[in-house]
Amino acid sequence: MSFSDNIRRVTPYTPGEQPQRKVIKLNTNESPYPPSPQVVEAIRAIKASKLRLYPDPDCRELRETLAEEYGLEPEQVFVGVGSDDVLSMCFLTFFAGKKPVLFNDITYSFYEVWADVYRIPFETVPLRDDFSFDPKGFLKENGGIVICNPNAPTSLEAELADIEKVVAENQDSVVLIDEAYVDFGAHTALPLLKKYPNVVIVRTMSKSRALAGLRVGYAFGSKELIKALHDVKFSVNSYTLNMPALVAGVAAAADREYFEETVDRVLVTREKTKEALRSFGFTVPESRTNFLFAKPPEGTSAESLFEKLKEKDIYVRFFKKPRLSDYLRITIGTDAEMEQFIKVLQEIL
Ligand SMILES: *Cc1c(COP(=O)(O)O)cnc(C)c1O
Repeated sequence: MSFSDNIRRVTPYTPGEQPQRKVIKLNTNESPYPPSPQVVEAIRAIKASKLRLYPDPDCRELRETLAEEYGLEPEQVFVGVGSDDVLSMCFLTFFAGKKPVLFNDITYSFYEVWADVYRIPFETVPLRDDFSFDPKGFLKENGGIVICNPNAPTSLEAELADIEKVVAENQDSVVLIDEAYVDFGAHTALPLLKKYPNVVIVRTMSKSRALAGLRVGYAFGSKELIKALHDVKFSVNSYTLNMPALVAGVAAAADREYFEETVDRVLVTREKTKEALRSFGFTVPESRTNFLFAKPPEGTSAESLFEKLKEKDIYVRFFKKPRLSDYLRITIGTDAEMEQFIKVLQEIL
């Protein structure tokens, strides 16, 4: 026996690279645009002397602003340090049973890591061959369900009717729906909240609201489930979001106009980039996210293309995993960045 036997050992999640020099960065699905001018103003107005105080442990103003924006009660809103923190708290709170938690075989790879670190049994449910969502695999005994919609890294949206089927047939389980990308043209499961008390929807300000650096995520659910989340949060760390993040989060949540305008710009650039890639012979499914999941033309390997782009200071994401290693995940940047990307691609191909 040694201390080594008492160490919790896990294989951690690997985030995309954050190179510290200037590159065209299309590898972690950040917004290519700055946050709302109202966020910038709110951060400027922060008094540094206030930093001696703890932030509001209830995050009341941020929860109230989000509740108002989405037509809910503040007691139905939970906030955390990015949606990774929110999801982690959800795993810890809702999946404390003995039956396996179910999620897709190809999805956000962090789910497996949380299940592992919290010792939660899990089983994966395969997507169809074309990566589409198949509700059938979720119609069996389980201790909870996680669905990423639209899914990452495939960029595809599941039918809301299929998600409802999973929720309706599993009313003894909490069904987490990770909507990190829903703002980019997908259908939200929010209407299901009114009908089913077992649904929790998780969102983030990292992508569509350009706040990845501040770490603000949130969840919507019934008052009962949100209270359970708060009880666990207050048992781990009462002061999760720092004061500047709370201030900026409120300003970002309140500026609907800027949010819609920047999201629309991303959508226009996404469709243009998709057409350009298809004209080069790439296979590109219809994305409902701020990235494209693209398979290079016959004779070009995704991995070598990933390496060659990197040599030219263009970073995209490549997953050396079964079913994914034929594809690249390409974040939508500004028009100028995507034009440069297409130009370099043309030279390489
Ligand atoms: C980016 C992402 C998250 C985490 O985002 P945060 O920056 O932690 O809010 C969660 N789920 C999916 C599917 C994501 O792509």
